[in-house]
Amino acid sequence: MKRINVTESFLPPYADYEAYMRQIWDSHHLTNQGPLLTQLEERLRERLEVDNIQIVSNGTIALQLALKALDVTEGEVITTPFSYVATTSSILWERCVPVFVDIEQDTFCIDTTKIEQAITPATKAIMAVHVFGFPCDVDAIEMIAARHNLKVIYDAAHSFGVEYKGRSLMNYGDASTLSFHATKLFHTIEGGAIVANSKEVVDKISLLKKFGHVGDEHFAAGINAKATEFQAAMGLCNLKYVDDIVLARKQSHELYDTLLDARFYRPSINKEAKHNYAYFPVLFANEEELFTIVKRLNDNNVFPRRYFYPSLNRLPYLEGQIACPVSEQISKRILCLPLYAGIEEAEVREICRIINQ
Ligand SMILES: *Cc1c(COP(=O)(O)O)cnc(C)c1O
Repeated sequence: MKRINVTESFLPPYADYEAYMRQIWDSHHLTNQGPLLTQLEERLRERLEVDNIQIVSNGTIALQLALKALDVTEGEVITTPFSYVATTSSILWERCVPVFVDIEQDTFCIDTTKIEQAITPATKAIMAVHVFGFPCDVDAIEMIAARHNLKVIYDAAHSFGVEYKGRSLMNYGDASTLSFHATKLFHTIEGGAIVANSKEVVDKISLLKKFGHVGDEHFAAGINAKATEFQAAMGLCNLKYVDDIVLARKQSHELYDTLLDARFYRPSINKEAKHNYAYFPVLFANEEELFTIVKRLNDNNVFPRRYFYPSLNRLPYLEGQIACPVSEQISKRILCLPLYAGIEEAEVREICRIINQ
């Protein structure tokens, strides 16, 4: 078999991208909220059914800007240990302390029944992740946040297009962030976005992402989080194919589900959600079984990834370690299998055969 990785970045037809390059060459507008970026924001607003969306240079800076714009600049942030490391590092870079609350066994999202016992007078916010596009218990989180006057940020990096209870998942919380990195379902090469529902927060983000000034007037210490016209062009091209991408992923997802032995646990898809098939996570019996299967797949040129390992509460550079037994044992046993729009049926069949063996 040819080398198969956990994902393969989608690329649109070359001519589609080239047509946008022509526009850039004609306008000489390369970055700084150009016409293509403005157009992409408008299209995404419609596609994701949100009132506003601000594209930034990546999904990590989106998390940092969300914290900053919501005035979470010190104190504790309750978060999940089961995510990509950027969820935790964004909290650390904003000089806050991540407080890990363990996850649910069946959704891999933060266990909302354990949030309140982690709240202290220093708690400022909850940063939860809709991991693999599975919605968190947003209603429970909203109630807890209201009761304790906390801000809520959802890292929705995996949740492009996911709907929950008939509305866009992006519309929950004070802010949701997306990643448009090349490995994500929808991408702009590098990129990310923030959706916020208060005008004040939206205005603050749009100021902060451009150095905190408008012309000669300086309002706050900002950062450079701008996305370029080249990124916007890739997004505009890819957006045209995003429904096809989700459909192709759904078909491979269903094939995996049918062919893989039932003894390999897969989380069930929330019935109130419209899923996006961004990942195909599988839980093995223990770490040894996982290593055996990884070895066998690697020998056949297949490279799944340990999404997510280690459990973030065990990052070696954290001060003060909190135990999260569920996340820690899931992290040791989980693999994401290759899933992307271009994966072939024969390849999925072969991967399942190797695993089931
Ligand atoms: C990819 C990812 C990020 C970071 O996004 P970048 O665009 O790569 O900076 C943050 N959180 C999660 C859960 C991710 O998967």
